[in-house]
Amino acid sequence: MNNSIGPDLRNPKRIVIVGGGSTGWIAAAVLANQFRPEVCNITLVESEEIGTIGVGESTIPPFVGLLRGLGIDEADFIRETQASFKLGIRFGDWLQKGQSYFHPFGVIGNRLGTHEFYQAWLWAQLCGESSQLQDHAPCSVMAQQGKFFLPQKAQKTPIGGASYALHLDAKLAGHYLRRYAETRGVQRVEGRVEEVYSAENGVIEKLRLADGREIDGDFFIDCSGFRALLIEKHLDVGFEDWKDSLPCDRAVAVQTSNTGATTPYTQAIAEDAGWRWRIPLQHRTGNGYVYDSRFVSDDQARARLLAAVDGEPLTEPALIPFRTGVRRELWKSNCLSLGLAAGFIEPLESTAIHLVTRGLDFFLRYFPAHTADTEGNRVLAAEYNRRMRLDHEEIRDFIVLHYCLTRRDDTPFWRWWQQAEIPPSLRERIALFRANGALREGVDELFRSPSWQSVFEGMGVRPSACDPRLDNLPPGQVRRSLDAARESIAQMVETLPNHDEFLREHCPAV
Ligand code: FAD
Repeated sequence: MNNSIGPDLRNPKRIVIVGGGSTGWIAAAVLANQFRPEVCNITLVESEEIGTIGVGESTIPPFVGLLRGLGIDEADFIRETQASFKLGIRFGDWLQKGQSYFHPFGVIGNRLGTHEFYQAWLWAQLCGESSQLQDHAPCSVMAQQGKFFLPQKAQKTPIGGASYALHLDAKLAGHYLRRYAETRGVQRVEGRVEEVYSAENGVIEKLRLADGREIDGDFFIDCSGFRALLIEKHLDVGFEDWKDSLPCDRAVAVQTSNTGATTPYTQAIAEDAGWRWRIPLQHRTGNGYVYDSRFVSDDQARARLLAAVDGEPLTEPALIPFRTGVRRELWKSNCLSLGLAAGFIEPLESTAIHLVTRGLDFFLRYFPAHTADTEGNRVLAAEYNRRMRLDHEEIRDFIVLHYCLTRRDDTPFWRWWQQAEIPPSLRERIALFRANGALREGVDELFRSPSWQSVFEGMGVRPSACDPRLDNLPPGQVRRSLDAARESIAQMVETLPNHDEFLREHCPAV
């Protein structure tokens, strides 16, 4: 017997997405790809007057997986969104000024027999060797030389373990995904949502637009950006503020003309009161300064960004205030929040778009089969909220790691970090790693061992001991294996095309 008041979702028919930024159109594309229009009718409402945030141009490898899952031709997408390839992130001036390190995608080294690569490398360092961990990461070596090749076409070679993501023009990507979704039956409604109506049990029933039109739905997806129109303004779920862990609260962004070759990596350069991104696309470069407003004014941040960029500004610098943290409930009743409406963690590891696709993966897994106000639905929503919260916490800890080990004390911002309180979960991870390079890696975590090892090494943390079983190996064997592996990557990368050449050949303008 079904006693609940709300609409019956046994066969969910009408999904309404509020917001047409990257999040809204990714959600529309993914759902349209999963459901025939007769099974699930999808409407997306967006307001041209409000517009989109227009940043969010650096991705991580799961984004390439998203395109594949949608059946999108990668070369076509790259051409249409003026995208470039990304092999990882180069961090400059984080440990101390003048020092840099690379966080590569993909593998770092291969196992030595039964031994994990990192442990073998560590063993050699503890025995007095001095070699760069990064020289064993194909992505890092390619990036240093400005080279690129698709690892899937070089599977059994020294660069076969590489991986990649894309830098993309957020606006063009939004248009591309909109075309994709509309072709598959998604209906777009232009208009500003003014009112949200719920039944007595809290289930959202409909939206009213500024011009009086009404949109009914069975399930609503809030992709309205920082406004969080449904999940916060209407459902009032509350926001958990993480400013004590990550105090940056503003960004200024500007697009500039290109100068020189298109680098196949994002740059994150530490600044006096935060850090600056540089994201190279085929037709322009995206730049921004993420900062802590306690230590620098908007005018100073804007001036610093304009002084630091190479190339001519193509846009007026845009100021973007933000709050770091996550909604207390990301899914409540018949409303799911995604993207900036769900929460925000500064874009140091380019994780926001990933969290959107991750949210959609979990949503599809827990797709509500019953009325929104049933115990079944509440259990699904609770599990979704638990999983997504773990993801947010993992990313928060990983971002804090980039700051909290700094040796910089040259500005008040960096001195603040010297005494900052570190989340206990991260403190434990650091202690574990310092002991013998051990990592607390969950099966379902985004950042795998090469990511943690790269940032630990880049931030000067070298474990004091390693796996003692390596002592069983004949002396010299580990060193010889490491040298040979490094040499073979270097030799192969020498032969690869440079990034711009590869882009021209792989994605020729039509
Ligand atoms: P928005 O782009 O703000 O879209 C909101 C939509 O809701 C718009 O269409 C708007 O019109 C609509 N809307 C709002 N109110 C109403 C209303 N009342 N009625 C109708 N429609 C309405 N992510 C990454 O993955 N990589 C990065 O490098 C990265 N860098 C970032 C840098 C900064 C400084 C910031 C702030 C974010 C960054 N992000 C990054 C995050 C990224 O910008 C977002 O994940 C992405 O752009 C999606 O934003 P959104 O669609 O959630 O919100």
